[in-house]
Amino acid sequence: MEIRLSNGVEVREGDTRILLDPRRTEPGVPTLVSHAHADHVPRGLKTSSSLLACTRPTADVIRARYGGIRRPVIVEFGEPMEVGSLTITAYPAGHILGSAMFLIEGRGPSLLYTGDVNPLGGLTVESPAIVPRADVIVIESTYGSPRFGFPHPQRVRAELALWAARVMREGSTPAVLAYAVGKAQEIIAALNRLLDVPVQADPEILRVTEAYKNHTKADLVASPLGGHEGGVAVVSARSKAVARRLSLATGWVILRVPRWADAGFPLSSHADYAGLVEVARRSEAGRAYTVWGRTRDLARGLTLELGMEARPLSSRWESL
Ligand SMILES: [Zn+2]
Repeated sequence: MEIRLSNGVEVREGDTRILLDPRRTEPGVPTLVSHAHADHVPRGLKTSSSLLACTRPTADVIRARYGGIRRPVIVEFGEPMEVGSLTITAYPAGHILGSAMFLIEGRGPSLLYTGDVNPLGGLTVESPAIVPRADVIVIESTYGSPRFGFPHPQRVRAELALWAARVMREGSTPAVLAYAVGKAQEIIAALNRLLDVPVQADPEILRVTEAYKNHTKADLVASPLGGHEGGVAVVSARSKAVARRLSLATGWVILRVPRWADAGFPLSSHADYAGLVEVARRSEAGRAYTVWGRTRDLARGLTLELGMEARPLSSRWESL
């Protein structure tokens, strides 16, 4: 098997070629979509006649958010799928609902592609990441620098709820800015659980939340923004202007809370540095290729901490 970073992560073995999270679909090339975040969803899904595989929740969220996939091939966690000479098995990635890692097995060493991954999981995902054994791992590096260490999400959720309660006592409506896919649903679930107050959300978030409801065990109770007074609002970037007391929930606040924000909560759907090292350790892989974000820092960390042969994946073909 050979891999490279080009139009997403490209894998080939003999006549078989597949794309993992490409920027655009290619005619006749089987494509795997790890999850429904915009930077992993290829252009051309609505019209492509190529094999397009993802989990059922990912297909549903893509439909709610970006208009759908022409003919998705649904993969179930733990059930192998044959694509040419390769056998591909999806494992929960714990990042957002439906997010999958793909174990790819061919004639030589096996490859684990993590997509975006979270070994802690969340309130709305199927489970924390379940990491299978592999010889080689392609691992995301969004927070791949040792400067990223997040407090436990349970604590962050409690702090967010305390902030919201305080703002309400002061007579204002607290609003939390969050990505419409994944983060917003985590916050709605946390507020439902921790505060006995109504939760409102903007239309973009509510559309995705409806798609979530068919697949998650979490309570996701939220009504349209502006429907009534009081409670907490969860808003995506588009509705941020309506909020007076606005906080934001993202791992990036570890670096800096923007001046316009009332508070920042480092609630991330990604692993932090230690979490990424833990995912690589659990895979028992001897070699790692890092992709997206702090690729050099993570490669260095994996070599130092686990003794792995690790480097950023480049556009040159690498043999496993
Ligand atoms: Zn993602």
